[in-house]
Amino acid sequence: TRQLVGADTAIGPYLNTEALRLSADAQTSFETLLLNVTSCATDGLSHGEIPFEEVVAAIGGPRDLSRTPVFQTLFAFRSSAGDRWGLPGVEMSRLELPDSMARTDLSCWINQGERTLEIELEYASALFDEQVVRGFASAWLTYLEAAMGQPELTWSRVPLLADPLAELRRHAGDTPIPAVPVGQLVWQVAERMPDRVAVTSATASLTYAQLQAQSRAVACWLAAEGVAAGEYVGLALSRSERLPVAMLGVLEVGAAYVPIDLELPAERLGHVLSDAGVARVITDDAQLTALPGFEGHLLHLDLAGLAESPAQGVQGAPDPDGPAYLIYTSGSTGRPKGVEVGHRQVMNLLSVLREPLAFSPDDVLAAVTTLSFDISVLELLLPLSVGARVHIVDEAVTKVATALAREISQCEATVVQATPATWRMLMQADWSGSRSLRLLCGGEPLPLDLAGALADVSGALWNMYGPTETTVWSTMDRVRRDVSQVCIGEPIGNTRVYVLDEHLAPVPAGVAGEIVISGLGVAGGYHGQPELTCERFVEDPYSDYPRMYRTGDIGRWRPDGLLEHLGRDDRQLKLRGFRIEAGDIEAHLNEEPSVLETAVAKRAGPEGDDRLVAFVVLQPGCELNAATLRRHLRDCLPLYMLPQHFRAIDALPLTPNRKVDYNRLPGLLEVAPQPAATQALSAQERRVAAIWSELLGTEGFAADDNFFEVGGHSLLTIKAIVRLQQETGVEFSPQDFFGLTLGEMAARLARESHHRKAPASVVDRVTRAVRRLRSYGPD
Ligand code: AMP
Repeated sequence: TRQLVGADTAIGPYLNTEALRLSADAQTSFETLLLNVTSCATDGLSHGEIPFEEVVAAIGGPRDLSRTPVFQTLFAFRSSAGDRWGLPGVEMSRLELPDSMARTDLSCWINQGERTLEIELEYASALFDEQVVRGFASAWLTYLEAAMGQPELTWSRVPLLADPLAELRRHAGDTPIPAVPVGQLVWQVAERMPDRVAVTSATASLTYAQLQAQSRAVACWLAAEGVAAGEYVGLALSRSERLPVAMLGVLEVGAAYVPIDLELPAERLGHVLSDAGVARVITDDAQLTALPGFEGHLLHLDLAGLAESPAQGVQGAPDPDGPAYLIYTSGSTGRPKGVEVGHRQVMNLLSVLREPLAFSPDDVLAAVTTLSFDISVLELLLPLSVGARVHIVDEAVTKVATALAREISQCEATVVQATPATWRMLMQADWSGSRSLRLLCGGEPLPLDLAGALADVSGALWNMYGPTETTVWSTMDRVRRDVSQVCIGEPIGNTRVYVLDEHLAPVPAGVAGEIVISGLGVAGGYHGQPELTCERFVEDPYSDYPRMYRTGDIGRWRPDGLLEHLGRDDRQLKLRGFRIEAGDIEAHLNEEPSVLETAVAKRAGPEGDDRLVAFVVLQPGCELNAATLRRHLRDCLPLYMLPQHFRAIDALPLTPNRKVDYNRLPGLLEVAPQPAATQALSAQERRVAAIWSELLGTEGFAADDNFFEVGGHSLLTIKAIVRLQQETGVEFSPQDFFGLTLGEMAARLARESHHRKAPASVVDRVTRAVRRLRSYGPD
């Protein structure tokens, strides 16, 4: 800038900041990268007199006050070696002024002296700790040294860590795990304390001796029915004491169980049954005589009858290395995938969690989670493995905060595990908790406010993290009352957690990378999908464990050695505890003739709650018909995977290399919904609309609106059913909420409200609603 006319005689800093745009191909050598940077910088300097402010103004775009425009890291090279300081008659010396404001997120100043190079790092302390920045500096020096030694190395593969293994040594110690089948742990308790209560529900109670006798009776019955070791047996049971009995019975015969959710649409249910190769499904629903697409046997569980039938022996003990369960989870191709987990992995979970969770025979765990979600394994088996009691909470009770709070206290629970959605529901109902309760929260990120609130009302709170593929939980963190930042803590026993870059090399502490998990919890893989298994379960070069699982979660080690969860590197979503692949929904939407392209994303609704939104690019000449799209999806997906909103957009946003840029999809409120026909509402319609309005936080409904089309979701459906029943005596089903418009619901009210039934209790009403909406939530 000194070159400008007149600038040579003026006093002032005359500094300009240059924004350099550099794209670095991950495959080039360090040497080439250096040349590219040099030519980019030289090019840039030839435009050095253009003020940075003008560049910012020319680029335009929205300004974000939380960050510097255009760039967030700065590099400056200052050579003072040859400086001649001095003006005639003036004595000059250099004064360093203290700086308290970082100019950018991270700035690096290199000061070249006579024989030295001094590196100065300036960082925004709101973003980085000193320890993290020191880590950056040391990683950079390691990098430069290695790159100087081998400049021909691919730049993205030059090591950042002098001792990569040091980064990987963050794990609890290893403990030997007994090589016995899971049931053995429970039978050992039954031998020692036969009369101790093992399982309770609202209506029943089983001692350990009874649990063992009934489970063995189930095993004998299954053996007599021809169930062989290693076979997969479906479990389609309601929540009662029969659940652990049937589960242990299946394991005792050497088979593995597959949770079967009867509310799945026929096509998906058929896929699960045939993919798993299930030949027998155990049910306690006497009315159930057939399952769609299932040609195997439905076995009706009648415990009273079994006790009387002569016991036939089970051949041998179950294989401690055999499979224990197969759980299906959303798959990005539109087909759910089954995760195979063995006795050995479950044994590890039960053995290593006992101590950190301080589990003792005096504990009572209130179990609230559906069998389809693997965290139910901990709920059912951890108490039984130590001689404690598991209390099975009825499904309807788990949906109503007041009823759940009452049951937790009535069953004298000391431990409860749930996803943030259930904890939020309880806290919103002013649940006061108890100092004698230990809480486990997991399955999706734990929001800070909820963490603080839960820690305040409980004796202890843990944030539990882990995917189904590594057996329930892999890391845990004890959340303190004064928590200021939520993290997922440290690995549980016999588990390694690595934070790796895309080449599966460890990144320094403080740097984000993929969370990769190794250890005894790593599952067998995806059932019948060797390719997908090889893609996600890869060889572990860092420990003695053979394989590690690539979670797709992004995390980083904090300076205090605890792990932070930062999000996902793919399109897997979590909604009210459910794991959903956006691609699963998109694959089915693309089957619709009016759809050209689509992208599904989680977006904040008007109340800040999470909504699933399908952005649809329509075929030329087609109009968005949300009702048709929803009807199609209803036939192939579980209710919790149905988008609440459909929005037509002209095109999906693209990245510069023309891939869909999912990060640039609009917000829900940025795209107007399809205009609804405006019409005046009748009195009955206004009654329905008032309830919708109260629950959805929006107004202005038309008679041909559908609850889901205006933002409703399964959780709200349950509430709406209860409210309508309370106010009008008419009972709607969840399916009505999908199929009927506001006008049609009002017409039904007009027809039926004079046959008003006696009001039922909230739990009774919810029981009925939930019976028809079992797939609503994992808790
Ligand atoms: P699932 O297989 O259904 O248990 O889902 C596993 C995924 O849920 C993980 O890969 C994470 O993305 C997410 N998850 C589970 N627990 C947590 C947690 N405590 N904090 C953040 N994300 C979590």
